[in-house]
Amino acid sequence: MAKDHGKAASAFELFAIDKLLSEEERAIRDTVRKFGEQALRPQIAEWFETATLPARELARELGKLGVLGMHLEGYGCAGTNAVSYGLACLELEAVDSGIRSLVSVQGSLAMYAIWAFGSEEQKQEWLPRMATGEAIGCFGLTEPDYGSNPAGMRTFAKRDGGDWVINGTKMWITNGSIADVAIVWARTDDGIRGFVVPTGTAGFSAREIKHKMSLRASVTSELVLDGVRLPASAVLPGARGLSGPLSCLNEARFGIVFGALGAAYDCLQTATSYAMDREVFGKPLAAYQLTQEKLANMALELGKGMLLALHLGRLKDDHRLAPEQISLGKLNNVREALRVARECRTILGANGITLEYPVIRHANNLESVLTYEGTSEIHTLVVGKALTGHAAFA
Ligand SMILES: Cc1cc2nc3c(=O)[nH]c(=O)nc-3n(C[C@H](O)[C@H](O)[C@H](O)COP(=O)(O)OP(=O)(O)OC[C@H]3O[C@@H](n4cnc5c(N)ncnc54)[C@H](O)[C@@H]3O)c2cc1C
Repeated sequence: MAKDHGKAASAFELFAIDKLLSEEERAIRDTVRKFGEQALRPQIAEWFETATLPARELARELGKLGVLGMHLEGYGCAGTNAVSYGLACLELEAVDSGIRSLVSVQGSLAMYAIWAFGSEEQKQEWLPRMATGEAIGCFGLTEPDYGSNPAGMRTFAKRDGGDWVINGTKMWITNGSIADVAIVWARTDDGIRGFVVPTGTAGFSAREIKHKMSLRASVTSELVLDGVRLPASAVLPGARGLSGPLSCLNEARFGIVFGALGAAYDCLQTATSYAMDREVFGKPLAAYQLTQEKLANMALELGKGMLLALHLGRLKDDHRLAPEQISLGKLNNVREALRVARECRTILGANGITLEYPVIRHANNLESVLTYEGTSEIHTLVVGKALTGHAAFA
């Protein structure tokens, strides 16, 4: 985080957020923050600029830190509460949304799918190695022609004797070309099912998507399944229909509710510090009312977003969190984080467009966060349905 200035309080200090956290939650947050500052921040701008994330090494370090599948119980996972997981996401995303994406996809999408819907054999085979970061997972739901509406997916898994044979293409898959295992969702004669696909299986290939202007410190890939033959035991026995993948997405979206605030917090800390150091017309930029109005409004949004995130986290820990409530959090916190990042960019003036500062990187990353795990439009429609009873998706 940016250096502290005299009596300047951060947005979270102003809202006394620490008072709402247990000692253990604060300790987990501080540990992840320290890791982010020491192991990630010094190199993140370069990884972003060159689009070269050392994902394999990082996964092992993140495994050692204990954040991979940290909110899951057993199989080598830490078994923390949901709020602690959210705080870890916040701290990782304060460095870069790409790092948080690696952790979200590994823990909340790939590991969660196996943990919640897998056979005991699948759990034993994959979860301990995924928790240490020795094995990397990806989650293939989106297809070139079906993103917001995965019900239309074309990837098909056909029974052939005792085997399954899968054909299809998945698009925009985080960790795809570095994964050891892919959770692939496919249409079958029996509805949508999930499959645990070792990426070394014949017929499976993954190509990294290049030229992204967002989430450059994250691997995004296309998966091609060309007659991938799997044994009967590859299907996730507990998942039937779209509710399987959607429940995994709810897990990951929950992390984003907190995570996006991390990116915004880092922008606000940077902009505040910059405004205090930068002199314009003979006094610090921070001493002008227009600047203070920007800072105050951003601190308000950040603090309100954090209160919302914590409220949803407490509901989740109490097993009372509904999907439409996660939509409220994702919609609000990502939207406001992006606004904060853009506003902070203005405070930095021309310096705001360089990678010397994290702000434009966060702003560009948040464009992806606005789109993945349900676009802001889709979450708006989910909230609209909850408010009116009318589904306006189609
Ligand atoms: C960097 C990155 C990483 C990703 N990682 C993964 C991953 O690991 N696994 C995975 O499965 N997917 C992943 N995705 C895909 C992501 O989930 C999809 O991009 C997202 O669901 C949107 O789908 P789409 O891009 O096909 O957009 P579309 O569905 O084509 O939507 C285009 C626009 O139309 C809007 N729209 C759609 N339906 C409606 C409607 N009914 N009413 C009004 N507006 C509507 C959308 O909100 C959007 O603005 C990733 C995407 C990105 C960018």
